[in-house]
Amino acid sequence: MEISFAGKRALVTGAGKGIGRATALALVRCGAEVTAVTRTRADLDSLVLECPSIRPVCVDLADWDATDAALRDDVVGPIDLLVNNAACASLQPFLEVTPEEFDRSFSVNVKAVLHVSQLVARGMRSRGRGGAIVNISSQASKCALQDHTVYCATKAALDMLTKVMALELGAHQIRVNSVNPTVVMTEMGRLGWSDPAKARTMTSRIPLGRFAEVEDVVNSVLFLLSDKSAMTNGVALPVDGGFLAC
Ligand code: NDP
Repeated sequence: MEISFAGKRALVTGAGKGIGRATALALVRCGAEVTAVTRTRADLDSLVLECPSIRPVCVDLADWDATDAALRDDVVGPIDLLVNNAACASLQPFLEVTPEEFDRSFSVNVKAVLHVSQLVARGMRSRGRGGAIVNISSQASKCALQDHTVYCATKAALDMLTKVMALELGAHQIRVNSVNPTVVMTEMGRLGWSDPAKARTMTSRIPLGRFAEVEDVVNSVLFLLSDKSAMTNGVALPVDGGFLAC
């Protein structure tokens, strides 16, 4: 299946590392003009070195005002495709969850998605040519994972945010979907699953018997951004080797 984004402009958050970085590079390979947003300048520098056509934007998405200034329509230009990928994760047993961690995680994993999507979707609506948004959720939105109280709760909130966005933005031909991966061994994945014994407890519950690769996630994102999924709106697509099916 050939996917081309020639003539499209895409914005990817959390594009400095892991899944977001690979998504930004894949979008360029498919012909899109890409704006890469993240908060570590060195990651953006190395990304632009790797792919000079990428337009870097350095901002902490937890900062509402700074995000407003960095991503205004007249600053980043019109965007047709948005990937809300940036997120943070930390492990805390339920009884030890701190208010700081709760606020930090919700502000990046949920509030920033709402905010960036508002900024981008307002532009899409005013141009009247529709668009596509993909939110990177997780299997953790639908299945309780040990020590992942806050992360699971943010991703469950994100799934519902995705559905309401699909409902309200559909009238403007803006489709909104999520992908919900199992573990991917990025920096974030290594945080929770580097211990081989722990990793085995997870892979043993995945019918395909392995974690996802970054490319497994990226391919699903590209599909949901593309016209190949023109009638798909409001779904949470597991990329989990069957974990959530069992
Ligand atoms: P990484 O930690 O490897 O990369 C996350 C990226 O997001 C980094 O570039 C990071 O920048 C950026 N980011 C985080 N917080 C902010 C912020 N406040 N402002 C701007 N940028 C920010 O994560 P992954 O690639 O693994 O994860 C990508 C997405 O996939 C996330 O939504 C995650 O929840 C989801 N996911 C990941 C899974 C996994 O096992 N890896 C499984 C399921 C879902 P910096 O390094 O500077 O903080």
